[in-house]
Amino acid sequence: MYRKSLTVLLAAGMVLSTGTGFAQTSGAINAQSDTAFDNKVIKKISADNMYNTIAYLSEQPRAAGTEGELRAVKYIESQFKSLGFETKVQPFPIYDTVQNVKVKIGDSDLGGTPRALSGSISGKVTAELVNVGKAKPEEVGENVSGKIALVERGDITFVEKVQNVLNKGAVGVLMYNNSPSGNNFGQVSAGQNIPAVAITQAQGLELVEQLKTKQITSTLEVGKAERIEKTSYNVIASLKPKANKDNGQIVTVGAHHDSVPGGPGANDDASGVSAVLELARILAKTPIDTEIRFLTFGSEERGLVGSSFYADSLPKEDVDRMVAHFQMDMIGGRDAGEDNPAGGLIMYTIDGMKNLVTDLGSSAGARTMDVAIPYGQLGRSDHQPFHELGIPSALFIHSPVEPWYHQPTDTLDKISKEKLQQAAEIVGASVYQIARPETPALTNARVAPGTVDYDFDDRPVD
Ligand SMILES: [Zn+2]
Repeated sequence: MYRKSLTVLLAAGMVLSTGTGFAQTSGAINAQSDTAFDNKVIKKISADNMYNTIAYLSEQPRAAGTEGELRAVKYIESQFKSLGFETKVQPFPIYDTVQNVKVKIGDSDLGGTPRALSGSISGKVTAELVNVGKAKPEEVGENVSGKIALVERGDITFVEKVQNVLNKGAVGVLMYNNSPSGNNFGQVSAGQNIPAVAITQAQGLELVEQLKTKQITSTLEVGKAERIEKTSYNVIASLKPKANKDNGQIVTVGAHHDSVPGGPGANDDASGVSAVLELARILAKTPIDTEIRFLTFGSEERGLVGSSFYADSLPKEDVDRMVAHFQMDMIGGRDAGEDNPAGGLIMYTIDGMKNLVTDLGSSAGARTMDVAIPYGQLGRSDHQPFHELGIPSALFIHSPVEPWYHQPTDTLDKISKEKLQQAAEIVGASVYQIARPETPALTNARVAPGTVDYDFDDRPVD
């Protein structure tokens, strides 16, 4: 799941534009006369399979544009190909800004890979280093004038810290992390015209220690910002019904395979990918009358870049045939969801309204685990571009998210097989509800998916 909120409010009339003819009824529980069909899918779901996929994918971070992402993409592609699916890897460009940075302590290189705070000017300064703690106003004295401020991350914003030392005449900023999560952080604002560099917590604490007993002269050298292009990927696999059984509709099931930099992303979102692959494995052997497109996206964590690229690449005739998008992001977190029913599983839509996907999901929850899964309003994942195309879409996630969200500690040991199983059953039963041949095409019939009453829940996600 992407950190920055991308919630978009649309007028009600703009939303349900696919004209599926599906009746959004919300009556009393409409007892399902035939639930045996669920078993064709859910009895075959193996949480062990999913767990093994997560184990492989979370061996290393999968940040977009890195070797780690490519390794994941090749694995996912090979899984789809082994199922005999029409499989395509879709590359797309992403852009990073890089600045060459050098930090010297005395005459020797600091080591590691120091990074410029985003927006730092380029330039070179040599001056004495002064420890100013977290650079709150009361911590920054006149003695920083003409010096490089050594600053700890935390408590106040990066921009405030830089401004506080600038106000006292500092000529550079060397900022260290307040957790062991690398040194990819921080920004300055326009006009804060001194070189500003981020280093790791270990490097910063070492300097703090040295400054207790001696003076240190440091050199910060920040190069010009250069934009470099990298490649990220989506994986697209299509399971088509037999030609004489094809009703022409498409259902999409997605997750994102990239992780944040420095995090193994076991739950975010190797868990979702594992369910996509598991449902693909099962549905490959199950008769269907609807195309099911299994999708894993790159660069979700950079702001839904991969799913937006995919959505933009779709021919109109495909969009017109797409009736539902199911997004799974963070569906195995042992410590997510607090004590909410169904392990905290919730379905988020962009506009906070029910749609075909949430109707199917809540009734599948009622059938498989006796909980009518609630819905809520949230963007921040790859259901957004589908919604913007007018396709009924929802994000399946456990909310609130776990404390390890986007941390290096989002690891395999925090994954719950029970939660994986439940989420995959609910999404699998929902997808199959549309795709099974016994279901007449949604455009032609009012199929009752056993609609249940289910509630809006505005619980905070993080
Ligand atoms: Zn995320």
